[in-house]
Amino acid sequence: MTFNDLGICDSIKKALDEEGYINPTPIQEQSIPKLLNGKDLLASAQTGTGKTAAFAIPILQQLHLNRSQSKGPRKVKALVVTPTRELAIQIAESFDNYGKYLGLRNAVIFGGVKQEPQVQALRRGVDILIATPGRLLDLMDQGFINVKSIAHFVLDEADRMLDMGFIHDIRKLIGLLPFERQSLFFSATMPPAIVELSGKILGVNPEKVV
Ligand code: AMP
Repeated sequence: MTFNDLGICDSIKKALDEEGYINPTPIQEQSIPKLLNGKDLLASAQTGTGKTAAFAIPILQQLHLNRSQSKGPRKVKALVVTPTRELAIQIAESFDNYGKYLGLRNAVIFGGVKQEPQVQALRRGVDILIATPGRLLDLMDQGFINVKSIAHFVLDEADRMLDMGFIHDIRKLIGLLPFERQSLFFSATMPPAIVELSGKILGVNPEKVV
């Protein structure tokens, strides 16, 4: 199978081609068509499987298609929450690489650094936000992030979130997100606490990829 068979638009295919991606990985093959159809997804996936592209590509494509219909100020349309600053930066680079011909904007939010540059990036307007939980909630509490327009939500490395003690933050965040949204849940392992959390985030009958 090639990326041509997955229904990906030419601008993203060109970028993937330049990345040297020839064939989709198994998780990409299974997830991308479902996500392009707007389904929720529960995926059991380790790092190194190509999971970042499996969620970034369909989100970029959906935002691209919607943006060409509706002009106007940029609003946060996609939120990716991940446990560490390193992962957040890597994910943002992936969105930049795969979306380089789309004209969408992203911002990365993480703690341990001054918030001002992050606040300025938010003020300039972003389509995609990639964040760690603590700083995200902090900036939301201060009123810098409007979550009402979020249509796609990704929880990445859910089991690590739990191990790192972010469960309370995640529960709080979910309560603040719009009810109508596409949700994607990624975890390397699926212990009972993770399955329970996934049930709180995903709609009924999510697609499953293992
Ligand atoms: P990830 O599991 O998202 O951390 O990705 C692992 C590595 O695989 C990253 O370096 C990606 O750039 C690379 N990668 C992702 N998808 C593909 C693909 N379809 N073909 C070749 N490399 C890929």
